[in-house]
Amino acid sequence: MSRAQVELPPQIQVFERGWLSSNNILLRQGALATLVDSGYVSHAAQTLQLVRSGLDGRRLQTLVNTHCHSDHMGGNARLVREFGCTVVVPQGYAQILHEWDEQALLLSSANQRADRFQPDACIGPGDELEMGGLAWRTLAAPGHDMHALMFYCAERRLLISGDALWNDGFGIQFATVLGTADALAATRATLDAIARLDLQTVIPGHGPPFADVDAALARAFARADMLAEDAERMARSALRALFVFNLLEFRSLRRDDLPAYLAGVPIFRLLNDRYFRRSYDDLAAGLVRDLVRGGAITVDGGLVAIARAS
Ligand SMILES: [Zn+2]
Repeated sequence: MSRAQVELPPQIQVFERGWLSSNNILLRQGALATLVDSGYVSHAAQTLQLVRSGLDGRRLQTLVNTHCHSDHMGGNARLVREFGCTVVVPQGYAQILHEWDEQALLLSSANQRADRFQPDACIGPGDELEMGGLAWRTLAAPGHDMHALMFYCAERRLLISGDALWNDGFGIQFATVLGTADALAATRATLDAIARLDLQTVIPGHGPPFADVDAALARAFARADMLAEDAERMARSALRALFVFNLLEFRSLRRDDLPAYLAGVPIFRLLNDRYFRRSYDDLAAGLVRDLVRGGAITVDGGLVAIARAS
């Protein structure tokens, strides 16, 4: 758990962001650099600032996305405008990005935003790429996102895992929640694949890099089991995570407006139709109760807001 144990090659710099924006990983090589993931669109100015300071005069040549959710690619357009970098995305996103399918990108459907961009190249499982002067192999990482990729550097026993493995868990299992595919089975297969790698350090999409990979894998497998056993619990967890994500962007929402808000966002409506079948007044009340109890939000003066650590 301790950050002191985690040592990264000197040419790799991780900008640890939070939840609205994913981490940004800068890999420098001579006068050039590659960035993995670009954060959320409303944080793009900060992303630009961090990247520019990390570049320290180098040229950002390539931007690679582990997957194309709003918190990982929301800064792409801005970075391309600024640096003229080449954008490389998982091959499963080629058509979706070409059409800018806001539903498949979970933008319109989850009330999230991103500036439109077009990829210059696609990569898939088994592809080799060089980042930061190191050789990386691209691995499939279906589960949280069925098109997601991870990047493995055997020489340094390093994995860039995106949202397939965090120190504590992994991202929302969208395909299972939405009923379009078995994300949980895919997640298990992805975790199995990670377990077979010779690993020293994982750089996740959110949270600090970590070295105790076995413990993280054990937590992730346990979470996958728990979610598989209780579909409603999985749906509640997805509802909470997606709502908190919205709130991180909007800062606050009027408590009185919450039922109508939930009813107006397609993915919340779908979750309610599929798993809860409650009135939106009830759904809002339960959601607020859960999140206040968990310390994630506060309700004050009729406003629902993210709880700030004091
Ligand atoms: Zn994601």
